[in-house]
Amino acid sequence: MRIPFLRPNPARLSKLLPGLEAIEASGIFTNYGPVNSRFEAEATASFFGGHGGCLTVNNATIGLMLALREAAGEAPRGTTRYALMPSFTFAATAHAAIWAGLTPLLCDIDPDRWTPCARSEEALLERYAGQVAVVMPYATFGNGLDLDRYAGLARRHGVGIVVDAAASLGSIDDSGQGFGTGFAHAIVYSMHATKTFATAEGGLIYSADAERLARLRTMGNFGFGEPRTATMPGLNSKLSEAGALLALAKLESFGQIVTHRAALADAYRRGLPGCKFQQVAGRQIAYQFMPVGMPAGHPGPREALLASLAAAGVAAGHYFSPHLAEQPYFQRVSEIAELPVTEKLAPRILSLPLADSMTIPEVEMVCATVRAA
Ligand SMILES: *Cc1c(COP(=O)(O)O)cnc(C)c1O
Repeated sequence: MRIPFLRPNPARLSKLLPGLEAIEASGIFTNYGPVNSRFEAEATASFFGGHGGCLTVNNATIGLMLALREAAGEAPRGTTRYALMPSFTFAATAHAAIWAGLTPLLCDIDPDRWTPCARSEEALLERYAGQVAVVMPYATFGNGLDLDRYAGLARRHGVGIVVDAAASLGSIDDSGQGFGTGFAHAIVYSMHATKTFATAEGGLIYSADAERLARLRTMGNFGFGEPRTATMPGLNSKLSEAGALLALAKLESFGQIVTHRAALADAYRRGLPGCKFQQVAGRQIAYQFMPVGMPAGHPGPREALLASLAAAGVAAGHYFSPHLAEQPYFQRVSEIAELPVTEKLAPRILSLPLADSMTIPEVEMVCATVRAA
């Protein structure tokens, strides 16, 4: 049996012909067109119970750049301003901050939830008082975050907040609502082909603050606050109508997909009792893949384990190792705090296969292979 790491499953392109013909007939291909507006409204209803609003972007990295720029506001030239983020995240988080004119300030993570560590964040906010423009937590692998705590940090420290929730579309919080519901700062989700809410390229920004969302929408269209006139910083972050059609079609079966992936994740937890699993915050994670920590007693290096999995037909990854502080470019341009928990977890992390089409027997076969390896 061969088990690929990820099997992207966007809505079937070949089934979208009527919608594509309608786009052609409308003559509107982008610029927040009617298909895009429909998707934004339906996403707000289905992910966030109709509270707040959504803005599409052409990918989450651009969405993060936009949201960071909005949250950071204007600053005098030449001052160093930090974006406080975990080192245990994807490269896009730090790249977005750098493109937004901010310097990544890398903090540690919680040993159980693998989300940013509150003590590490708050110590750095004290140490770099007045220099942190934005706190940028990552909702690690779709896990929940205490968003009220971040709203409190914004008030107490006068900082902006942008949540990287790239893997969180479909995750459910403790109150049973979609992760992020009601949060007034910007939360950025990815709709990349490899994410659980798979399209091709795309992203979604959520905020319960309508004025913030309107500013982001204007910034995403060249900052044109008046016709053809830039009144604020801008770039082009618009999602095409064809991209919005793909997203709209994905909404249809999405609830079942998240439930199925949760069942696969439970099978992993049952099948690998010796491994360390992420402690879940909230009711449900919309698992993109299955992150596990190798058992503490495992003697060999991860590479040997991955090689024996590959030899048995199981493809696996190791997100996020190397973590940001281990990557040459970020080492040159970031400020790096003490990272004891990250340094302990990253070398032991494995990302095991998960897909809409995967079955529980397949998960059991992967678990048996991991145990044997
Ligand atoms: C996937 C991902 C991104 C980037 O999303 P794109 O839509 O591909 O730009 C950003 N941050 C994290 C943590 C991710 O996993």
